[in-house]
Amino acid sequence: MKEISPEIQSKLIDGKKVSLALQEDLKRQVEEIKSAGGKVPHLCAILVGNDGGSETYVAAKIKACENIGFGSSSYRFDSNVTEEELLKKVEEINNDPEVDGLIVQLPLPKHINVDKVTNFIKPEKDVDGFHPVNLGKLLLGLNTYISATPFGIIQLLKFYNIETAGKHCVVIGRSNIVGTPVSVLMSRNTNPGNATVTLCHSKTQNLKNITLQADIIIAAIGIPEFVKGDMVKEGAVIIDVGTTRVDAPDTKAGWRLKGDVAFDEVAPKASFITPVPGGVGPMTIAGLLANTMKSAKKEIYG
Ligand code: NAP
Repeated sequence: MKEISPEIQSKLIDGKKVSLALQEDLKRQVEEIKSAGGKVPHLCAILVGNDGGSETYVAAKIKACENIGFGSSSYRFDSNVTEEELLKKVEEINNDPEVDGLIVQLPLPKHINVDKVTNFIKPEKDVDGFHPVNLGKLLLGLNTYISATPFGIIQLLKFYNIETAGKHCVVIGRSNIVGTPVSVLMSRNTNPGNATVTLCHSKTQNLKNITLQADIIIAAIGIPEFVKGDMVKEGAVIIDVGTTRVDAPDTKAGWRLKGDVAFDEVAPKASFITPVPGGVGPMTIAGLLANTMKSAKKEIYG
């Protein structure tokens, strides 16, 4: 791994550190629940097929549950599972009072309708925050489960006391799980929030003219090193959500993660920047666990 100069080091937003701090706080809350004789939060994961990435993510989520004292369970299905079988399992978990949060790890095999499965999870247990009811509540500014990645981005801005009010925030990418919800959160009358938000996508014209006006750039595109040094103004805050696996024969795995931002060009101009890996990524588990705690405490659905 390349050495990072002390100057760049001082601009790094450390997602691992913030995620651990949030998890420590959740662990403390679990202790409180236990000493009051309450039921500890329980997260359940459904995994379909043998996708290496999905297996790693689910294992990491279960491990994080163990670390902070949550209960956890997981169900595995072969990739030829029918939609009906999967929905049946979702229904069973929907009705299991022991389980507070349910996630179905994506992607699912092509023969399964992802929306149908996601929408079948009870909104009360949808700790991924993907259900239309929860996304609708987010849009209306109501208390809800914020999906893990937008949650993580907001928490990072908060932890580092980054001023967002009145700033121009340019979000690149409009997916339902990252770009669109984070653009809504950044434009809300909250802190962090109160930014003037421009949401860009593949049909946006003169993107560079827009990003050059940005005080904050949130890049969620999925194209490695898409945001170049000449697209960023001096002092901008850079949040890089991208995590694309690129070939890296020099590594043991044969690949490494690349962000959507050309780090070496952009970091010298930025006031703050998230590295990849170690920036937004580690925050997602904390977001999921925080939502599971909210569910267990009935903070959203009474
Ligand atoms: P997605 O659903 O593929 O959406 C990509 C977005 O980028 C789309 O809105 C697309 O525009 C836009 N886009 C594509 N080419 C563009 C271009 N040339 N100029 C401007 N916009 C362009 O992706 P996603 O699920 O949001 O994920 C984005 C990246 O974040 C991926 O690398 C993913 O792996 C990563 N990710 C990381 C985490 C984490 O924990 N760190 C979590 C989630 C996702 P259109 O809508 O016009 O097609």
